[in-house]
Amino acid sequence: MSQTLLKVSGLKVAYGGIQAVKGVDFEVHEGELVTLIGSNGAGKTTTMKAITGLQPLNGGEIQYLGQSIKGRGAWDLVKQGLAMVPEGRGVFTRMTITENLLMGAHIRSDKAGIAGDMDRVFTIFPRLKERRDQLAGTMSGGEQQMLAMGRALMSRPKVLLMDEPSMGLSPIMVDKIFEVVREVHDQGVTILLVEQNASRALEIADRGYVMESGVISMSGKASDMLSDPKVRAAYLGE
Ligand code: ATP
Repeated sequence: MSQTLLKVSGLKVAYGGIQAVKGVDFEVHEGELVTLIGSNGAGKTTTMKAITGLQPLNGGEIQYLGQSIKGRGAWDLVKQGLAMVPEGRGVFTRMTITENLLMGAHIRSDKAGIAGDMDRVFTIFPRLKERRDQLAGTMSGGEQQMLAMGRALMSRPKVLLMDEPSMGLSPIMVDKIFEVVREVHDQGVTILLVEQNASRALEIADRGYVMESGVISMSGKASDMLSDPKVRAAYLGE
């Protein structure tokens, strides 16, 4: 089997007295596209925040490349190849598209490589190229999502964590985003994708985990999960 890049064991996260994540285990191997699905409030975003150091744990362990990354900041993780596209995008609204993309490459100093990657992002998202001098805050939700993904790619990540990239987007934009997630994965980036759009996520994923009330309730090969009547009834609206 390929190398385990990310390993989450017994993860627990609480908000005050409320235990939002109650002991979660999962792994992401090199080259995989793994999706974490589940209904509102299941604890998916909290799990992502714990991995990227935005939310402290009250139990468990998170390992990246075999080392504990508990409590490490986002900056440190990006330097090691673990980049995040956060829920709600988080683009720098008063900066242009080009400036936002360059922020994604702030850990790098290879000018030619950065310029090459900027071209690559513009090839994936021609819309960003057309609007390269526009302020990010004036772009549509879908365009901001593209920018957030482009910015994360500018760090040349080994692993990309994405939190609900399709949220709030029009059907055409959702198609585009899923197409790009698959394309980025095909180019060799390992991906952990959190999604409420379970069927779309499972269609492009290798493996999936279902999260329910703070625990993993089901896991398996994405294609098996897609045809599992239990998954279809609970998460695919059938
Ligand atoms: P969604 O798909 O709706 O974003 P989710 O699976 O990502 O849901 P989380 O956002 O991780 O779920 O929330 C898990 C639980 O933790 C929910 O009950 C939520 O209300 C609670 N929660 C999340 N953030 C906070 C916070 N900052 N303070 C208190 N409770 C929180």
